[in-house]
Amino acid sequence: ILSQRLAAVAEFVPRKARLADIGSDHAYLPIFLVRAGKVDYAIAGEVAQGPLKAASAQVKRYDLEEKITARLADGLTAIYPKDQIDTIVIAGMGGILIESILTNGQKDGSLKGQRLILQPNNHESDVRHWLAANHYKIYDEQIIEDYGKFYEIIVACYQENSHYTSKELYFGPVLMQKKTASFQKKWQKKLEIKQKVLRNLKNAHRVPKDKITAEKRQMAWIEEVLS
Ligand code: SAM
Repeated sequence: ILSQRLAAVAEFVPRKARLADIGSDHAYLPIFLVRAGKVDYAIAGEVAQGPLKAASAQVKRYDLEEKITARLADGLTAIYPKDQIDTIVIAGMGGILIESILTNGQKDGSLKGQRLILQPNNHESDVRHWLAANHYKIYDEQIIEDYGKFYEIIVACYQENSHYTSKELYFGPVLMQKKTASFQKKWQKKLEIKQKVLRNLKNAHRVPKDKITAEKRQMAWIEEVLS
């Protein structure tokens, strides 16, 4: 019943993890993992009433109330110390929202020692910039194509002294090593879009020079990574 995207996220959840799925909507992910016997304890966090109701109803339907708790909460405040959560999933939302959830969690200490499995729908490199700036090491990454859209999954843990280049944060340090077919397809498409954008920028009046320079630099990176 899981989408290909969520199934790929589920693969990164370690066996017997104590899981918090933030922005769980119908609690599809924790239900799938508990039913698969991979996870015995999960929190399904939701900020909105409607999705929370849907999550609670699904958990009840599968008779999993002892293993999955649906909580109405903003971001990581869904996690209580007694839960002893060790793995946090934040999937299916914009990268900027993920960043703000992480920033708030960083302030209240709920992020400490957690394995993060993040699947931003956009602004992936902003998420990686946040991770690097906050001493997270990116252990693994995956890119998948689902219904013509590309999704990136980023797995990270706290580690002092993790350093990345701007290029690594742009493409993903692991993704640019793996260079899978989906990765190449995504960046080939991006390159074509950028070529069009650049043509338009050149024709437009009063475009700041640094904007054109930045576009050109990214295009050179893409060409390099695809070669
Ligand atoms: N995680 C699921 C997935 O990947 O399919 C559901 C994604 S759904 C598009 C995003 C969900 O995140 C929505 O149900 C929304 O209410 C919830 N959400 C948005 N901001 C949130 C926040 N600050 N804290 C908790 N949940 C949030």
